[in-house]
Amino acid sequence: MSTDENTERKVLPCPCCGSEVTCSAGFQNGYGTYYFVKCSCGLSINGQFEADVLQRWNRRESAG
Ligand SMILES: [Zn+2]
Repeated sequence: MSTDENTERKVLPCPCCGSEVTCSAGFQNGYGTYYFVKCSCGLSINGQFEADVLQRWNRRESAG
């Protein structure tokens, strides 16, 4: 059985500056782990689900 986690977890470069970014497991709060994508230029997205964070980040590229 092969895993395609790399493609599922693909993160597009920053839509503002083009830098490579990664999605990281962030801080714990009362509900669980938060995930975030943060760029050195200051643009960031975070949320409770990694897939949701990635999806929203990736959509930013075409949003603007
Ligand atoms: Zn950036």
